[in-house]
Amino acid sequence: MLNSREIQAFLAPEHHDLSKKLVEWSEAHIATLPIVESDEEARVQAREILKRLGESNHIGYAIPSSVGGHQHGVDLRSCVMVRETLGSANPLADAIFALQCLGSMPITLSGNRELQEKWLPAVLRGEAMAAFAMTEFEAGSDVGAITTVARKEGEEYVLNGQKAFISNAGIADFYTVFASTNPSRGRRGLSCFLVEADRPGLQFTEAQILSAPHPLGVLQFESCRIPTSNRIGTEGRGLALGLATLDSLRPTVAGAACGMAHRALTEALAHTTTRRQFDQPLSEFQLVQSQLAEMVLELSAARLLTYRAAWEHDRGADRITVEAGMAKAYATEAAQRIIDRSLQLHGGRAALAKHPVEHLYRSIRSLRIYEGTTEIQHLIIARHLLDHYRQSSKTPEADTQ
Ligand SMILES: Cc1cc2nc3c(=O)[nH]c(=O)nc-3n(C[C@H](O)[C@H](O)[C@H](O)COP(=O)(O)OP(=O)(O)OC[C@H]3O[C@@H](n4cnc5c(N)ncnc54)[C@H](O)[C@@H]3O)c2cc1C
Repeated sequence: MLNSREIQAFLAPEHHDLSKKLVEWSEAHIATLPIVESDEEARVQAREILKRLGESNHIGYAIPSSVGGHQHGVDLRSCVMVRETLGSANPLADAIFALQCLGSMPITLSGNRELQEKWLPAVLRGEAMAAFAMTEFEAGSDVGAITTVARKEGEEYVLNGQKAFISNAGIADFYTVFASTNPSRGRRGLSCFLVEADRPGLQFTEAQILSAPHPLGVLQFESCRIPTSNRIGTEGRGLALGLATLDSLRPTVAGAACGMAHRALTEALAHTTTRRQFDQPLSEFQLVQSQLAEMVLELSAARLLTYRAAWEHDRGADRITVEAGMAKAYATEAAQRIIDRSLQLHGGRAALAKHPVEHLYRSIRSLRIYEGTTEIQHLIIARHLLDHYRQSSKTPEADTQ
């Protein structure tokens, strides 16, 4: 039921075909995978998902790159569509697809040909698993508080510090790591590096267990030496690279949320039209209809904001910070409400472990937190609104005072 007509103002003809093909592929190759219930199972299934995504060339939708001299920019609407489809079929598959993009985007944005040629072909084939290591225990929303340090020694950097809440920690082949090359400059002293998983001095020290299993954990850097050629982008410009990556990818988080919400709505429709109480299907009760109406209304609004942001990106907007923030904040919060309503409409059976809606209920929660919490998106949106208001209400008289 993922309806490409309601968002067609933001689509090109090829997106309609893509939408159909994605649904068919994911029903055959992703929806058939069992829902994993432990961290160990998630780590094994994550690699299997990556293999399937790579062999079927789906990772190409996630990566704007010039691989082997061949330029292809990312079409963010297609990338959103992939996440929407995967989110609906299996949230772990969505996360694995997204991390290939998140972990390699700084390399592609930086224009570093050497690192691109070395890593991106394997990322695209699903042979190299990527990860993005920004967060620390004491530096979450406040990225400027990062204390991992990269000290330059001749032709090498020496990394010391700890990263936490890192997706794919322990199973990735490389990490895109944000560390300070000049602690006295705070946010402006951050740089970005590629660290191979087998570098001496890098250790995966702890798996962090999520309620909806997804490989996550803590990394420790102890005198971990990397060549200066592993620096991604200019020294001191790491934060800009990280933020540009997150800007581009927030609409795709919104897409994943729409996919999960869509699945919850589909399950609610199937259940309420067949489950009978008081001698009629639940869907005949107006209170139930009101719930269904709220769900589809919020889902449509979320999809419109999501595809609007991706369309802005694809038509060449310089930055889509505000549109991306609106899409992420609205779609992830709406998806949480839609999934919660679906669970309520199912009654006790969807509160049972392993019910698909119960799994969605646990899976959606993290999307409101990672890649910038809802509150941080609200700050971004409000700052932009206030700046715009102040500028537009500036009178010539006020300027001269
Ligand atoms: C499943 C999952 C996967 C993740 N994967 C990765 C990954 O791959 N790589 C990576 O680097 N990180 C990852 N993260 C970390 C994630 O990006 C951080 O959890 C997130 O940025 C929030 O940081 P925090 O958890 O430290 O919360 P905090 O920053 O401590 O925030 C706690 C609360 O305070 C609020 N808050 C903070 N500052 C303000 C403010 N100025 N105004 C108002 N409210 C505020 C927040 O909105 C939040 O509600 C992942 C997290 C999860 C849950």
